[in-house]
Amino acid sequence: MQTDAPFWDSLVFAGIDDVDVEAVTAALGTVEVAARGRAAGSACPDCGRFSDRVHDRYLRRLKDLPLAEQGFVIRLTVRRFICGPVDCPRRTIAEPFSQLAAPHVRFTTRLNHALERVGLALAGRAGARPTAQLGFGAGRMTLLRRVMALPDPRFSTPRVLGVDDFAIRRGQTYSTVLTSVEDHRVVDVLPTREAGPLTAWLIRHPGVEISCRDRASAYTDGARRGAPDALQVADRFHLWLGLRRAVETCVAAHRDCLRNPSPSSMLPEATLGSGPPQDDTEPVGRRADRKKAAHALVHELLAQGHSRRAIARHLGWGLNTVLRWAD
Ligand SMILES: [Zn+2]
Repeated sequence: MQTDAPFWDSLVFAGIDDVDVEAVTAALGTVEVAARGRAAGSACPDCGRFSDRVHDRYLRRLKDLPLAEQGFVIRLTVRRFICGPVDCPRRTIAEPFSQLAAPHVRFTTRLNHALERVGLALAGRAGARPTAQLGFGAGRMTLLRRVMALPDPRFSTPRVLGVDDFAIRRGQTYSTVLTSVEDHRVVDVLPTREAGPLTAWLIRHPGVEISCRDRASAYTDGARRGAPDALQVADRFHLWLGLRRAVETCVAAHRDCLRNPSPSSMLPEATLGSGPPQDDTEPVGRRADRKKAAHALVHELLAQGHSRRAIARHLGWGLNTVLRWAD
């Protein structure tokens, strides 16, 4: 199939004005466009002088976004210009294509952007599946390389800084994530969850007024030394967590006081008009029963000679949970 070039220039290459389309062919589910550069010449990146003297030409094969569910490939003829002056170390200049594709890559810039977006949303393996289905298949490492090649996002020092740890490998390696609490953005990641890196970060980024953190003492020290004037507050999540634990401990300690009244003792209570039966006692009782059952289950499996790790795997529980019941 052959199509007239102006159509392709105006539609398929809208916004890309550094190439001219020479021919279009379609076969076996792939559309192929032969194109060449439009520039009169190029400036030498070393000496800055302009040259339009062509040394030779070579072909670049660029993969582009699919077109109407067909693969789309651009065969680009690239000119090499001669840089003449004897005082310039460079002999030839490859024709640049600022809009179509960066130098030395096999993808067009717009396909590259699509791969970056998929990589950011889904990362390697999960991202590779839809790209294959959508017709611009890229391997998981390609997607990861696209993401890693992106520049780090710029940030301004937040007024309210969130500080929390997160596990790179649970139980082994922890890092610290810094967030801007007011606009919910990740600001930076520190290599450990010790005080030192946080102190150094706060000294390098003055202007934090409130440091919002969990209750770990390392972060308290780090924030006090790095930003002594900042107000330190416990974050909402850790306040709720602390409250929940305190309530649980308290209710569990007073569980005996809350036991369901026996039938004989119920009558006088009911006649006293003390309100509906105390439903509050039931979750506590059920929770205790569940704990007992978990404890019994773990010890039964231990008695059968299974390892703690095997029990965790078998029950689908965390190893720490099994260790707690085992001990
Ligand atoms: Zn030069």
